[in-house]
Amino acid sequence: MNDLRDLYQQIIIDHSQHPHNFCPLEQASHKKEGFNPLCGDKITLYVNEKSGLITDICFQGAGCAISTASASLMTDAIKNKTIEEALEVFTEFQKLITTGKADHPEKLGKLSVLAGVVEFPMRIKCATLPWHTLKAVLTKDQNIISSE
Ligand code: ZN
Repeated sequence: MNDLRDLYQQIIIDHSQHPHNFCPLEQASHKKEGFNPLCGDKITLYVNEKSGLITDICFQGAGCAISTASASLMTDAIKNKTIEEALEVFTEFQKLITTGKADHPEKLGKLSVLAGVVEFPMRIKCATLPWHTLKAVLTKDQNIISSE
């Protein structure tokens, strides 16, 4: 168990130090900013969506290791998924980090490395910030997103 935890921790550190899809997306069809006032995490999410399919997704911003790793893992996980599939993954992810257990862990893939967040309630909003921002993009919420 300890080995698995170390491995998960290493993956989170890797993603926070070398985030994937960390760049602006010039031709993005959607752009959204999110903010977590509890920790100070800021994210700008760029999404290209075509006929309900997320064809490309990138992010920029400054945040703690958990929010950056979560955004990095999220962009990897939902690229080339439909909006419906992406929202399903969010539901599972939220369940995992708030209860420690997902109903359909097979939908989460690498995102399950963040399962340990359940032990740090202060960090849950860091981990969900990218997802709340994504949800606002996909459901076309016009407000600036705060995960508070
Ligand atoms: Zn944070």
